[in-house]
Amino acid sequence: MNYKNITVAGSGVLGYQIAFQTAFHGFCVTVYDITDENLEKAKNKFNNLGEAYKKDLKATQRQIDKTHRNLKYTSNLAEAVKDADLLIEAVPENPAIKIDFYKTLAKVAPEKTVFVTNSSTLLPSQFAESTGRPSKFLALHFANTVWIHNTAEIMGHATTNPQIFNDIIDFAKAIGMLPLPLYKEQPGYILNSLLVPLINAATALLVNEVAKPETIDKTWMKATGAPLGPFAILDIVGITTAYNIDKIAANKTKDPLKIKTVAYLKEHYIDKNKLGVSTGEGFYKYPNPAFKNPNFLK
Ligand code: NAD
Repeated sequence: MNYKNITVAGSGVLGYQIAFQTAFHGFCVTVYDITDENLEKAKNKFNNLGEAYKKDLKATQRQIDKTHRNLKYTSNLAEAVKDADLLIEAVPENPAIKIDFYKTLAKVAPEKTVFVTNSSTLLPSQFAESTGRPSKFLALHFANTVWIHNTAEIMGHATTNPQIFNDIIDFAKAIGMLPLPLYKEQPGYILNSLLVPLINAATALLVNEVAKPETIDKTWMKATGAPLGPFAILDIVGITTAYNIDKIAANKTKDPLKIKTVAYLKEHYIDKNKLGVSTGEGFYKYPNPAFKNPNFLK
């Protein structure tokens, strides 16, 4: 892997974090977004991120200054990719926007540029053709708060070049991530393939009045040694996200359990603005949730 110049497309929630993390690790990063106004917003967010790196990673001011010097900005796509070894796509999770983006990108990017998508729910095979370079295209999936939750799920599609897949593993390591290669396309990658069934099982136990959230979490924590139970995780993810996903599933499948879950979450959490950590209360009260109490598992 001899990547030097990296372009990050989309400077929203994930894009600006990926750009900063990459620049922090010494790469020359160009941040691209559709308007200069969005890029200005990203610059402001980079200042806050610098403070977070100092607090969470004990980064020095010198490192942060250097990171800022490694970042460039443009709202011109051809300019953004003219020297790019790698383009990381973090544009909205909307297939039409992504397809349109890749088709335009394919016309202006140099032949050498490898493209990766950070999509959470869409598969690389959905966009491979639009990129015009299927063998140089795969997924590199980050998690929110990339500098702390530094997982990088790496997933190709049927015709991704194995050498490029390996290069992306090396690149992920080089920017301080834990590379997690997947050898087949898998909706939800590894994390959500594990997490979603766990959360669904936990809410089913609650909605069917089998046990209380704290008891369910205690069981999971004590029996497996995990630091958080499914309801504590749900408070972090946000109960609204689970509610919206369940609502779509209920409408589609008419599954009585899903319908019951949606009604339950609405009545007890959504309508009461108990949405999780973000509103100070969900299944637990913050900033001092019960599961952090040393006696929780006694
Ligand atoms: P977001 O809406 O916060 O940001 C998207 C950015 O893309 C915005 O700044 C927008 O102006 C810009 N944009 C829109 N159209 C564009 C185009 N044609 N070209 C370039 N930029 C364009 O979205 P996000 O949450 O950062 O998500 C981006 C991607 O990352 C999605 O695929 C999502 O699935 C994935 N992801 C998100 C999270 C998360 O927690 N938010 C976690 C992992 C992966």
